[in-house]
Amino acid sequence: MWLPLAALGLALVPTRERQRSIAARRASITRPAGRGASQGSAECAHRTPAGRCLPEAPCAASMLPIDGLCVPARTEAMDDPSAGLASNAHTDRSGRLVVYEHVPRRPDLPADYDSYLYPTEPWGGQTVSSGYDLGRPDGLQRRGVDLTAIGHGGVDLPQERGAPVRAIALRGQQGDAEVLYIGPMFGNTVVLSHVVREAGATRVYLALHGHLDGFAPSLRKGQSVTPDTPLGFVGDSGAEGIVHLHYEIRLVRPGIDPARIERAGTLVEQTVSVPCDPRNVLPLRTTPIRRGG
Ligand SMILES: [Zn+2]
Repeated sequence: MWLPLAALGLALVPTRERQRSIAARRASITRPAGRGASQGSAECAHRTPAGRCLPEAPCAASMLPIDGLCVPARTEAMDDPSAGLASNAHTDRSGRLVVYEHVPRRPDLPADYDSYLYPTEPWGGQTVSSGYDLGRPDGLQRRGVDLTAIGHGGVDLPQERGAPVRAIALRGQQGDAEVLYIGPMFGNTVVLSHVVREAGATRVYLALHGHLDGFAPSLRKGQSVTPDTPLGFVGDSGAEGIVHLHYEIRLVRPGIDPARIERAGTLVEQTVSVPCDPRNVLPLRTTPIRRGG
């Protein structure tokens, strides 16, 4: 009999604490200021590390704009350009141990991939068939036949060939995304750049959409893209026989303007960008996933 009572006690304490914490957070949530509140000023209110001018920041520096509200952000050392980065290592094709940097998932965000929105609809109720594993020990990272794959810096989204791939806005995104690259990389690939505001710091993320069957006909390099803009169609280019979208998020190192980088391969080098667990910036899903559809 003691077990259910103990379980009840354990369940009650965190619930009360959670309620207090929710009430405190609610009290500190504000509506973002309307855009153009100080339109008279010709000065740029907010610039990316590379100097690009952004629309006026809608929230105070310690708040994050999420779903139209200014929500208190975690404040620890987020202004530090290296904040959130971690080092890990894995064995490459030649058997060499390679040390790399990446951005692991923030522990306060849901681990369940089904909690997030993606550039394709879940297929048969499934969102992610293969997850981000660069934070795992070497031996637990994904391995291909003869080490053709070494770790997985993105998520694989299963879909039918030809299903549309559409742009999404990342959490905390400022302004529209921009088309950086259209061409071969992970098979046919579209790379977008997204400017994201995180607790007062502005960061640039790359979003790679790989293995496409083809590109949206109207898509052009340098184009601004709003959410839902068609980017291309799911396929298996560069991954013959495995139809899926490879979706990868990379954090651009401070001070680098990815739009100035000519060679596409350079975009994914560690000196320019590091892989990031996509759950750190993916928008949270507000509607349940339709199963079996
Ligand atoms: Zn992949």
